[in-house]
Amino acid sequence: MAKRDYYEVLGVGKDASKDEIKKAYRKLSKKYHPDINQEEGSDAKFKEISEAYEVLSDEDKRAQYDRFGHEGMNQQFGGGGGFSSAGGFGGFEDIFSSFFGGGSRMDPNAPRKGDDLQYTMTVNFEEAVFGVTKTITIKKEVNCDTCDGTGAKPGTSKSTCKMCSGAGRVAVEQNTPFGRIQTERTCPTCNGSGEEIEDPCNNCKGAGTVTKDVHIEVTVPEGVDNGQQIRLQGKGDPGINGGPAGDLYIVFRVRPDSRFTRDGDDIHFELPISFAQAALGDEVKVPTLSSEVVLTIPAGTQSGKRFRLKEKGVKNVHGYGYGDQFVTVKVVTPTKLSDREADLFRQLAEQGGEDITEQNENFFDKTRRFFKGD
Ligand SMILES: [Zn+2]
Ligand SMILES: [Zn+2]
Repeated sequence: MAKRDYYEVLGVGKDASKDEIKKAYRKLSKKYHPDINQEEGSDAKFKEISEAYEVLSDEDKRAQYDRFGHEGMNQQFGGGGGFSSAGGFGGFEDIFSSFFGGGSRMDPNAPRKGDDLQYTMTVNFEEAVFGVTKTITIKKEVNCDTCDGTGAKPGTSKSTCKMCSGAGRVAVEQNTPFGRIQTERTCPTCNGSGEEIEDPCNNCKGAGTVTKDVHIEVTVPEGVDNGQQIRLQGKGDPGINGGPAGDLYIVFRVRPDSRFTRDGDDIHFELPISFAQAALGDEVKVPTLSSEVVLTIPAGTQSGKRFRLKEKGVKNVHGYGYGDQFVTVKVVTPTKLSDREADLFRQLAEQGGEDITEQNENFFDKTRRFFKGD
């Protein structure tokens, strides 16, 4: 089925303004919306209207449609079959961007920001908690000192590119489904700069930049957590054509700690205590990030009981106060008892009315001995 003209679908003229197109679309989409219009075919009609509006409301797409009709739309947005950007040329996109003044084409001589870099920095648990200043060494592009970034040997200067006579662009003829078309593309000799280096700088071979080990001081923010990052403005690769340098992103990896585990700004700590401490209560010294505190264990404390030490956690990296420290009590069962201790436990059991069958050794050891007969 042949596709209807998009202007016809919306019922507007070829020279309709953006506003007129919008109004026409609103009116029609209301009329044919499947939720409102139950008539047969309203669904397809609604789709047709939406498609027409999608193209005509977009300046670039509309210009393309005006020039090539539906076929042009399919080529550009539906994948152009065998006609892709293979082989030396920029290909299809190149052609379109030169036709339409090219929002997407980049002026090779425009100042551009340098590339951003990323560095993963591993810090210790305490360094992350309290912050630290460290110097890192990264390999990065820097402007060549010898030629001051020009790429030309000191004392020499650049000359006008012979290939494009300084225009930075050259004309190319291409065969397309729409016939033979003359387009322009960036001059391959000078890369669009219009200038040629006749005598390249020895140090950078004409590139204007060299790769170097650079030392950078990094302030690890107090309270930073695993996976968080900071941005060091202007510490990335140098800018192009006088543009600003890129940024350096430092991503932090925090090594785990043997005593504390961290959950956001909160700190978790496991405190082993004895039967006696759990049963009778005690005052126990507990390490925190900054010092030791005395924690009161009430009599009758169960294993797994959690205590909160308010604001003894990590200082929030954005300055929103401190987290808490949580102390989880773990009652440790003794594994080796002296005769006297065993006696005391027996008395305890008796006192509590317990009738227990003692298992002095591993069941399997006992069984083995029984069969061996000793
Ligand atoms: Zn140089
Ligand atoms: Zn050139």
